[in-house]
Amino acid sequence: MFEIDYEIFKEIAAFIRKTFNQPEGFIALHEPRFTGNEKKYLAECIDTTFVSSVGKFVDRFEEMIAAYTGVSKAVACVNGTNALHLALLLIGVEREDEVITQSLTFIAIANAISYRGAYPVFLDVDCETMGLSPAAVEEWLMKNAEMRGDQCYNKQTGRRIKACVPMHTFGHPVRLDELVALCHRYHIELVEDAAESLGSFYKERHTGTFGKVGALSFNGNKTITTGGGGMLLCNDLALAKHAKHLTTQAKLPHAWEFVHDHIGYNYRMPNINAALGCAQMERLKEIIENKRELAHLYAKFFHQIGVQIFIEPQNCRSNYWLNVLILKNKNERDVFLNLTNNEEVMTRPVWCPIHKLPMFATCQTDHLTNTQWFEERVVNIPSSARV
Ligand SMILES: *Cc1c(COP(=O)(O)O)cnc(C)c1O
Repeated sequence: MFEIDYEIFKEIAAFIRKTFNQPEGFIALHEPRFTGNEKKYLAECIDTTFVSSVGKFVDRFEEMIAAYTGVSKAVACVNGTNALHLALLLIGVEREDEVITQSLTFIAIANAISYRGAYPVFLDVDCETMGLSPAAVEEWLMKNAEMRGDQCYNKQTGRRIKACVPMHTFGHPVRLDELVALCHRYHIELVEDAAESLGSFYKERHTGTFGKVGALSFNGNKTITTGGGGMLLCNDLALAKHAKHLTTQAKLPHAWEFVHDHIGYNYRMPNINAALGCAQMERLKEIIENKRELAHLYAKFFHQIGVQIFIEPQNCRSNYWLNVLILKNKNERDVFLNLTNNEEVMTRPVWCPIHKLPMFATCQTDHLTNTQWFEERVVNIPSSARV
């Protein structure tokens, strides 16, 4: 056993305090910054009474997101989880289908797959991205998949394999070229969980835009926030129109009649949340630049003291939503978490891999070597924009 260097951990906590210019008190992992027009736009909602599901900020926010990410249409939702749910519905995930995703991710996607009555398959992540590994997906498909007509089926379970949902972990883009090619080859729909990667680009193209539909989140801890909120990114106008329809109880437009033509959802984002979103979007460029600057400061410091910090993958531009240290083992990780949190510098381990949770314990998996490796070593450190 090697010895744990408590002094270095204290030095790290001190460096974080210095970097955030906060000699004492609690330092959060990720805090929102409301330094622009947030109050002004919120006041406008209240003054005009348009706080709810009608109002100009929803359209404006959708347009801002579409323009920034380069999709033809964005559809605002109440949160990222229901954006994912809707994304799966829109691309045709049905009851008893299988959906491939990564085990090392936030629970939302596994829940969204379950809302469709479908089964998640939890595969491994890559070392360089911490996101779904194309090699792991290919290996699993080679063992389990067979084409029947133009659809992909699982030979063992007899179920259709309908979709693949990679997640851009902590803002670092997955290897999209390979995943897109694999999905194409096996006739599987690609849906990116881009909840953590607003402002992250893969080869100059925004994450969440590589499939027919992708999902963003604006939860309070994300790069920008609307309180709670999500967004569907669509490259197909007809699909986007249908998405909007489904988020509004599938009600046919009419001045007074209540006629609905689908089982719909109440998933639309209120104007008051979109107002926050518009103000946040005006500052997005500055926020991302600032977060990248923080990541560089961290990289320099951790390099000097010989602690491993996770860097954006090649050909990618990450938003560095949450910075990641890779500690030597679980024991060192736990000591680090204890020491820093005791000093009110918030740090956190990565999620419990989903295949280990009781609701998903019987789901299909394959080898999860990197998942397990990261699980024992990853910690997130404070990463708010300093603006
Ligand atoms: C935040 C997040 C979501 C969506 O969360 P909501 O709180 O519903 O907006 C989905 N997937 C991942 C990976 C996330 O981090």
